[in-house]
Amino acid sequence: MEVLSIIVPVFNEEQMLPRMISALLAVIRDIDLETEIILVNDGSDDDSLLVMKELANLHTCIKIIDLSRNFGKEYAVSAGLQFARGAAAVVMDSDLQHPPDVIPRFLEKWREGYDIAYGVHMDRREESRMKKAFSGLFYRLFNRLTETPIPRNVGDFLLLDRRVVDSLNALPERNRFMKGLFAWVGFRRAEVEYEQAERALGESKWNLWKLWNFALDGLTGFTTLPLRLWSYVGLVVSLLAMLYASFLIVRTLISGVDVPGFATLIVVILMLGGIQLISLGVLGEYLGRLYLEVKQRPLFLVRSTHGFERDASEGSVVSEPPSRQTEPRRSS
Ligand code: UDP
Ligand code: MG
Repeated sequence: MEVLSIIVPVFNEEQMLPRMISALLAVIRDIDLETEIILVNDGSDDDSLLVMKELANLHTCIKIIDLSRNFGKEYAVSAGLQFARGAAAVVMDSDLQHPPDVIPRFLEKWREGYDIAYGVHMDRREESRMKKAFSGLFYRLFNRLTETPIPRNVGDFLLLDRRVVDSLNALPERNRFMKGLFAWVGFRRAEVEYEQAERALGESKWNLWKLWNFALDGLTGFTTLPLRLWSYVGLVVSLLAMLYASFLIVRTLISGVDVPGFATLIVVILMLGGIQLISLGVLGEYLGRLYLEVKQRPLFLVRSTHGFERDASEGSVVSEPPSRQTEPRRSS
């Protein structure tokens, strides 16, 4: 039977997990595919791992990847994708904001021949005004600057065909801005609308600073316009400066030397200094990321895995992640 992998990144969700799993299991029961639930523990410092292990003891379809520390959601998802062996993989949050009963609708689209079925949420009640405004601005900017726009109101709740999973796994970059990558890979895609629930327990792991850095990762990963922009800014500023210089020369010729002018000078110097610092900062953003890519560090490190051994003993193909990217040490 074909396998469906369900990948769930988990960071400090001990309260949410049992509920989430029972809701998920209730949906899976009616799916005519063999299902594996891959819980990726992203270095939780609460008892999430313990809860996962208890759940895995009760339900054999649950597998665990325990990362060596908190790598961030994008990397947890990358880890899940590398271990998934399904003909299709669903990625969803562990806080029930992604309702499991949407999965059968994803599968419908998949069976119709779509490679990616992605959830579009109708509603973002939980989030603050500021966060909404910020993300609205980010996506407008991202879509304007890049060639692979991210559709609006798309979260990380989606189904990927094996082909897409393999393509994503083969991407060499360390900057894993998943939403951007999901858009970048292309393939045939279908939208599935769903109602996003509020987070029932625990709290969102995002704050403004994290979001800001996330946005920078997203933009720098998919457009080099900020780098190239400065040539044009420089050009415009130089043109203006030349015009101003001609004006000054003409004025000096007509009405003699003019000593006052401190205000103009200081304004021009400060403005140019500011522009130079900003452009240096932009260079730094890219250079820093370039440095990270060049180092070729693995995306994540796995401390242990649970539940994957069974696949091996059954003789089915276990997707052993390429050793270049991970160093899994399978615990027994
Ligand atoms: N998450 C993770 N690593 C992190 C932060 C979050 O694996 O460093 C997981 C988290 O457990 C949840 C999902 O990513 O399953 C979404 O997180 P959250 O609900 O905090 O984000 P929001 O819904 O507010 O965007
Ligand atoms: Mg959430």
